[in-house]
Amino acid sequence: MALPLLPTTIAGSLPKPAWLAEPKKLWAPWKLEGEALVEGKRDAVRLALSMQEKAGIDIVTDGEQTRRHFVNGYMEKLEGIDFKNLKTVHIRNRYDADVPRVVAPVRRPKPVHSEDVKFLRSATTHALKFTLPGPMTMVDTLYDEYYGSREKLAMAFAGILNQEATELAALGVDVIQFDEPAFNVYFDEVRDWGIAALERAAQGLKCKTAVHICYGYGIKANIDWKKTLGSEWRQYENIFPLLAGSAIDQVSLECANSRVPLELMALLEGKDVLVGAIDVATDSVETPEQVAATIRAAMKHVPASRIQACTNCGMVPLGREIARAKLEALAAGAAIVRREIG
Ligand code: ZN
Repeated sequence: MALPLLPTTIAGSLPKPAWLAEPKKLWAPWKLEGEALVEGKRDAVRLALSMQEKAGIDIVTDGEQTRRHFVNGYMEKLEGIDFKNLKTVHIRNRYDADVPRVVAPVRRPKPVHSEDVKFLRSATTHALKFTLPGPMTMVDTLYDEYYGSREKLAMAFAGILNQEATELAALGVDVIQFDEPAFNVYFDEVRDWGIAALERAAQGLKCKTAVHICYGYGIKANIDWKKTLGSEWRQYENIFPLLAGSAIDQVSLECANSRVPLELMALLEGKDVLVGAIDVATDSVETPEQVAATIRAAMKHVPASRIQACTNCGMVPLGREIARAKLEALAAGAAIVRREIG
């Protein structure tokens, strides 16, 4: 699919309509049931596509309208995981969360997102990105009572994700993105097995492959964590050289309003860089000129031909109209720079 220079895309999620799930809430319960829920999710996907297309986003997603949570939404479709008796654990080395327990070998009884993607592909002619949780982030969002090894469990998930991703690519998805916020926390594990698990998940895919690594949604635990990180956030320095040597095509990262030194992007030589030019942790809407400034700053370290303009992270916790305005600013900002460089 032909894309313009500096194509625009989003990290993944968008707010859900109030009739589908309570707004501004992570893991909000569905408000519909049965057939009405199936139909409601599809209508929400249509709206998410329309919002992106009208705003001028080039590579669109389903806004994760069919999932309650970016990790659990996938894991709850697998076998071997108990979602009834949750366990409170400290996740991402940051905050306590009630998470499901692994009690048996993890298995995917049937494809999870094939039907979603068939519908999605039929509903838009735009380039399509589909997001899946990364193996390490899955491991870090549950309590393991069976495998006794984060690496073994991650590799089991990676095999499952690879089957899923292979099917979705065959259905016409242009980019499969694995979300790995845990990469920003467990640097030793990223080196020892995280990259290998990610590559296993992406192995042999006929479409582009991406990984999204961020500082999290704009929730209090993350905002508090960011305050402890000092004047420069150099977490990416540990992982970008490893990713540069990996088989992954694209890296989605956080830039807007962050303390990430932008020169760290140069460590991603050879990769497409999805520059986060929209802050998802604030209701204040960027101006197109602010977005353009972030893209120009990135261009000092990455050739324009390898840059995509993106959001810092998912937008599910935002109000819908705020998200819409931010998407419009993203597209307008990329257009400014595109005109400048002709
Ligand atoms: Zn994120």
